[in-house]
Amino acid sequence: MTSNAISPCQQFPWNDTAPSHVDVAIVGGGFSGLVALVHLCRALPSGKFAVIECHPRRAPGVAYGGCDQEHLLNVPAGRMGPIADDMGSFHRWLDARMPGKFRADSFAPRALFGVYLTDFVLDEVARSGAHVSFVRGAVIDVRDAHSQVELTVVTSGDASHQGAHHQTIVAQCAVIAPGVPASPAPWAHIQRDVPSVALISDPWESGSLHGIDPDADILVLGSGLTAIDIVEGLRRAGHRGTIRMLSRNGRLPLPHADHGEPPLSMTKEQFTGSPAKVLSALRAAARQRMAGGLGWQGVIDAVRPHIPAIWKSWTASERRRFIRRARALWEIHRHRVPVQVLADITAQRQAGTLHIERGELLAVNSTASGNVAASVRGSDGVTHVHVVARVINCIGPAMDIRHTIDPLLGAMQRSGIATTDELGLGIRSDDDCRLMNANGVPHQRVVIAGALRRGDLWESTAVPDLRVHAARAAATLLAQLAGQQTKGRN
Ligand SMILES: Cc1cc2nc3c(=O)[nH]c(=O)nc-3n(C[C@H](O)[C@H](O)[C@H](O)COP(=O)(O)OP(=O)(O)OC[C@H]3O[C@@H](n4cnc5c(N)ncnc54)[C@H](O)[C@@H]3O)c2cc1C
Repeated sequence: MTSNAISPCQQFPWNDTAPSHVDVAIVGGGFSGLVALVHLCRALPSGKFAVIECHPRRAPGVAYGGCDQEHLLNVPAGRMGPIADDMGSFHRWLDARMPGKFRADSFAPRALFGVYLTDFVLDEVARSGAHVSFVRGAVIDVRDAHSQVELTVVTSGDASHQGAHHQTIVAQCAVIAPGVPASPAPWAHIQRDVPSVALISDPWESGSLHGIDPDADILVLGSGLTAIDIVEGLRRAGHRGTIRMLSRNGRLPLPHADHGEPPLSMTKEQFTGSPAKVLSALRAAARQRMAGGLGWQGVIDAVRPHIPAIWKSWTASERRRFIRRARALWEIHRHRVPVQVLADITAQRQAGTLHIERGELLAVNSTASGNVAASVRGSDGVTHVHVVARVINCIGPAMDIRHTIDPLLGAMQRSGIATTDELGLGIRSDDDCRLMNANGVPHQRVVIAGALRRGDLWESTAVPDLRVHAARAAATLLAQLAGQQTKGRN
């Protein structure tokens, strides 16, 4: 146990039996699904709800349930509160347990946020008196059924649903909050006879990084936040071998600004026009701020509330152009790391134990010694072979879900209940989070929350945005349920 550890007070009571009827079924027990649940419980204490989660972890979602005790949040503690008008709640909770240890602008460990979120949600559920079932299972279909919604849930069995048990939940309404599926492992078609233990598709899977020789060389695919987290986690676990990060752009996320810089306020009107115009306005504002001795980061934070409006103002081809030409640059400015984390990464590079390369993985083959020979074409066009003990997929979420192998997202697209945006970034929804079908007709009973809204909003990743979407999704369903009750009485 490290000094950052706080034992969880409570655990979600996951079980394998799905209720047959509920008012609202929530698909996904991550931050978005659980915060929607809290709003539903507060407003409808007589309600009957089910949260269905296919991968229960010790805390909600990959971000807070897959990390070690030292992985840090990338949003300051004082802004991580799950309810928009009480952003400071997490920091108050921290301060009550570890007085003075974290300031509101500190980057606290993600595991602590996981403990807090679990306690917060379970306390809210208990206080409300609502009836909530926490079901361990995968929802593989959501469809309309006689003015209600029917969900097929697969419980127990293995990941490919062999020997699994299918159950049906009939709900008045549903919240779809499954996050975005991970990118498929990039070696699917280029690996030959490599033992599966050497290719780690999901580094957040419990135990996936165990059993690695501490002196072995490792290849990490990706150089973003996940890649940094994994390198830092391996080092904390005592890994001494050389680590190579490989990505198409070879760029690391940039650091957060110094503590205590004054925030900047900018209007939407300062960012109008094509992606090129918006980016040039951002650069100009950043130069001006830096000329005043402050960090450019304030400009990115100031534009953030306007991103959905900017994104909506662009045509599909402008969005495509932004993604093709500017996304990589945007990501490293927008998704930043605490300064101390970057300092540690820099120290490893200087010591020669960490290399960051620009290039493309061409093939992975097994070697006689049981290692992996990874062929990489570098930015100079030359192919190098790295012999490593493990290749770890840290590429992050899929950027196009049109051809996803995710059973639920695939089924919903095939049945036509849901459709993606033109770029396949997410599932289409209206401003009230209602699922939209291919004809643009919003569903009255099914809403969506979480990163799957990124096709409509782009900025739909972190707590400050997701808590607003979860509240909106819940409010939409509460209005629908209230309307139904009124109709029933008349
Ligand atoms: C490593 C990492 C670090 C991050 N750090 C931060 C941070 O510091 N601050 C911040 O604000 N944000 C951070 N984020 C962003 C983070 O994703 C959001 O804050 C938030 O946790 C997303 O919650 P979600 O519920 O929308 O999605 P998820 O957390 O992905 O939760 C969705 C859940 O749905 C489940 N699910 C999926 N499909 C099904 C199905 N068919 N049936 C049943 N269950 C299903 C999944 O198992 C998952 O548990 C981080 C993300 C990652 C990956």
